[in-house]
Parts: sequence; structure tokens; C-alpha cells
Amino acid sequence: MTSGGERGGGVTILHGIGVSPGAVCGRVVRLPDRATEPPAGPPPDDREAEAARIAAAAAAVAAELRARASCHPDVQPILEAAAMMAEDPALRQEAERLVREHGLPAARAVWETANRYREQLVAAGGYLAARAIDLDDVRDRLVAALLGSAGPDDSGAEQPYILAARDIGPADTVALRRDLVLGIVIEQGSPTSHTAILARALGIPAVVACSGALDLPEGELVTLDGDAGTVATGPDLAAPSTPRRPRRLVGPGRTADGVRIPLLANLDTLEEVEHAVAAGAEGVGLLRTELLFLHRGTEPGVAEQAATYLAIADRFPGRPVVIRTLDIGADKQVPYLPELEEPNPALGLRGLRLAREVRPELLDRQLEAIGRAAARTEADLRVMAPMVAVPEEAAWFAARARAYGLRTVGVMVEVPAAALAAGRLLREVDFVSIGTNDLAQYAFAAERTSGRLARLNDPWQPALLELIRLVGEAGTAAGRPVGVCGEAAADPALAAVLVGLGATSLSMAPAVLPEVGDLLARVTLDQCRAAAEAARAAADPQEARARASAVLGLGP
Ligand code: PEP
Ligand code: MG
Repeated sequence: MTSGGERGGGVTILHGIGVSPGAVCGRVVRLPDRATEPPAGPPPDDREAEAARIAAAAAAVAAELRARASCHPDVQPILEAAAMMAEDPALRQEAERLVREHGLPAARAVWETANRYREQLVAAGGYLAARAIDLDDVRDRLVAALLGSAGPDDSGAEQPYILAARDIGPADTVALRRDLVLGIVIEQGSPTSHTAILARALGIPAVVACSGALDLPEGELVTLDGDAGTVATGPDLAAPSTPRRPRRLVGPGRTADGVRIPLLANLDTLEEVEHAVAAGAEGVGLLRTELLFLHRGTEPGVAEQAATYLAIADRFPGRPVVIRTLDIGADKQVPYLPELEEPNPALGLRGLRLAREVRPELLDRQLEAIGRAAARTEADLRVMAPMVAVPEEAAWFAARARAYGLRTVGVMVEVPAAALAAGRLLREVDFVSIGTNDLAQYAFAAERTSGRLARLNDPWQPALLELIRLVGEAGTAAGRPVGVCGEAAADPALAAVLVGLGATSLSMAPAVLPEVGDLLARVTLDQCRAAAEAARAAADPQEARARASAVLGLGP
């Protein structure tokens, strides 16, 4: 899937990366870019009145953020933190001073003050530097409020539409009208960016890393194909679509010849628990427990954690629920852990390494909470560790988890070394689960959130499939389960390939469960194996997808 446009017969086709399946046709609505730098003049006639506008704008922005938070409890802490930043008295007072003493227009004064704060955050490094992006967002909202320009929202839309934007953050994505958004195309992003993960979670077809998306004229009728990663404009398009109703998985996951492949849900937010139940998930293959730890000032206590794990597990009685221990480090930081000045955080003390080297007691408290929930629930509660590289780490984790009464213990395979040593890992633990997002990032040495490197993080990369095959074969030889919980499992054709490579369960965003279930039910295990062979032998991701699709009897 190359990026860029191609023209022929009056039709223009933009190519990006399809990250959320489904084809839709609709009119383009352009999401405005973030605010641009406001002018430094002319000076206001009444400086006092101009300065007073800043407090009013801050109150309006904070109120808007809190209103959004009240509709979306899962992102409430993120939005509350932003509201507090908007109302920050020091920021307001400094901006007011610039208006009074230097005669700057209010929008310019806010812009300059926020940028000065931003520099300080960046200079502080680590966790504080990561907050600079949040400050930019608040700054842009304040500037938009002071200039009277529209912020990035779609509240004016009345008809179903396809959203085109440079990028869109989680707080803005949740605010989109779910009854009207048919599809999303963005210029930036990657298959593992927030937009992609949220689009899949919401069941909205989406294409990312699509250059030319911002040149699509407002109101243009386009067809967006979230499987092929294309956006087409021109004559002879289908009639506009209506937003899709969420579907349900039909029956348990199995191939046409009856091989059982449990289809499980990935949960990133508490809101998704209900989506997963509604979509018919056969359990939870990945509970990202960061949802409990991020965006707060203190670590959640054992009792709070245990109550949350139990509440989630109790929605899946008799089913597997895999809780992943905390994957903090790299781009995810929390203020109550020491700041680690690491030159290369993605290769540093992330996930299990942080627990081992810095805070074993944090892991112990989490395992205690999971153990308490396991003792009380009827779900089949399992635990696994992220960022494991060698068998010795798996053994260390397993011993600790078992000490808290946890019976089924696994590790994620996200580091190429772990894939290569999967057989030895499986001597230490009961199962493995392949995290294809990080496995691709580390195998191709390509930052997973980078739009420019998205082609390397394409889960159809034959070399990635090769690593997955090694894990599948090790699982078969050891007679132990091999799950896949990275975004690769959310692509129906690729899901069949993963089964052919030896995956025994697949875990994905709840909204895609029905599509993956439908496809698996149409193909035999032998076809999955043949598709896997064909894809592995391909020269590049495009060829891999085309070859596998042909074997599976799917269109190109
Ligand atoms: C992965 O790396 O594929 C994975 C499932 O974990 P996360 O996306 O949370 O890093
Ligand atoms: Mg990962």
C-alpha cells in the first residue's frame, strides 16, 4: 500500500493504509487544522477589556472539555486534566500581563505564554516533555475561542459524512458524532496510532497515512475502502452509505472445517467492555491495564484494582480473560514513578523491565489484585507480562504470578528475540500471545506511531509473518496456546493467515469480531495454511495480501 494519488478515467484514487475495515461512500467533511499562529497586532483599544476576555475563554474551553468528559467516562481523566490546564491561573495571569503591559491581542498573548511554558516542559524532559502535546491542544482551543474560529469538531454536520483531517487525537475522536461519521481518512497516523485503534474500536472504516487527504474538496463524494486503504473520487460512485449498525459475532469462532479459534476482545478502555459483550466476544484476549494507571496522580490501590478486574471478568463467566500487567515506559509515563532519563525509551525500561529493575512492588501489588479477582470470579482469569525478551524473564514473572495464586500465566511475544526463542519461553509459561504491533516495531526498527514508517509496520510484511510462524510452530510442538492480540488480528484475511501460521486464538477490537468470524467460517484450516505459505513467500506486503486473498477466494 503505497501513499499518494493516481488518476485515470476521471477517477482519482488516493492510497494510504487501511486500518479499519469496510467500504463506505459519502461526502467529505474537512476537520479544520489546529489553530495557526495569531498575529501580534493591532494593539487593542481597551487593554483591560481585552485582558478580561482571557478568563472568559478559559472558562468556556474548560466547560466544553468537561461536557465531553461527562459523556465519555473512559477518557474523563484526560479531558479533566486538559480542562485544568485551560484554567491554570499562572498561564492566565501571564497572558493578561502581556495584554496590559505590551498591548498584545488576547489570542497572541495566550499563544506566546503557552509556548513559553511549552519550552520549559520540553526542557524538563521525560514525562513533562510528553505533556507538551497536551498543552498545545489546550493552547489551540483557547486561541480558537478568542478568535471565534471553529475548533476541531463536527457539531455542524447534519448528513452522514467521511472525515478528512491531518490527524485527530483521542479527545476529538470521541467527540465525533458516531451516528454520522461513515469513515475517516487522515494524512498522518499509522496502523497503531490512536486514531487507528479508536476507529477499529468504534467500527468506523478508516485509512491513515494517506497523502492528498487534505486536498479532498469539502463536500466531494468519495468512496473509502478501509480494507484496501484507498479513497476514490470521481464519477460512477455508489450511492452514499448510511452509518453502519454495530454487528454481533455469529456463533463461536471456527473455520469451515470446524477448527475452534476463540475470538476474543482487546480492551483499552472501560467503555469497550460493554462493546465487547455486545459484539459477542468469546472472552478478553488483552486487557491493557494501563487504562487504570494513566492520567492520574497516584497509583490505584490493590482494592481498587481488584474491584475493576473483577467487574470486567464477571462480564465473561466461564470465558478466558487475559489481564496484561502494566506496560508503562516508552511513550506511556505516569507521574508517580521515577522519571527515567533514558536516551531511547522504547528500548529501555518498559513493561516487565520496569517492574524488574525499578519497581517490583508495583508488579506485586498488581498481581495481588489480579489474584484476588481470580479467586472470586467465574471467568477463567489469566495473566501475562509485556516486553519479555528472554526465557529467564518469563520464568521470573511466572514464579511471581504463581505466588499470588494465578494458575494460567503467559507472556507476550513482542520482541524478535522472544519469537526466536518461543520454544524455550513456552517451557516457563502456559501460553504466549503475540503483540504484532511491537513485534513489527522492533523487528523493523521502525517507531510504530510514525506515519512515514507505516509501510514498515504493515502487519502483512513477510518478515513479520516469518517471526509469527516460528512462534506458531513452537506452540504446536509444545502443545501450548499461541494467541495473537496485536492489530494484525483485526484484518480478516490476515486473521486467516495467522491461523495458518499456528495461532490458536485471536484477539481484536470488539467492532471487527463479526467480520473476522465471518471470514474464518468460510475457509478451511488447509486454506489458511496455504494462504500463510503464499503470504510468507511474497516479496512485500502488497504481494502477500494479494496472494493470500487469492488463496482464500477473496477479491484483490
Ligand atoms: C502489541 O504490541 O501488539 C500489543 C498488543 O500491545 P500494545 O499495542 O498495547 O503495545
Ligand atoms: Mg505491545
